[in-house]
Amino acid sequence: MSTVILLLGLCLLAVTLCYLGRCLISPWGTCRRCAPRGKNRTCRACNGTGMRPRLGWQLFVHFRRLHRDGTR
Ligand SMILES: [Zn+2]
Repeated sequence: MSTVILLLGLCLLAVTLCYLGRCLISPWGTCRRCAPRGKNRTCRACNGTGMRPRLGWQLFVHFRRLHRDGTR
């Protein structure tokens, strides 16, 4: 039983690391609201750019800002 939990934990860790790597390599993902239909100038989610920052990148920016504001 503990082996299954260990394997699950390792899988979760691997997925998290892969996602973090992807966020670092390309912090900007495509806008899921308008990208499949081509860029939409009136899209409010991405302001018509067709690109959106990934959730992980947004979190990274948020915590970096928090740290900078807290240590100034
Ligand atoms: Zn969009």
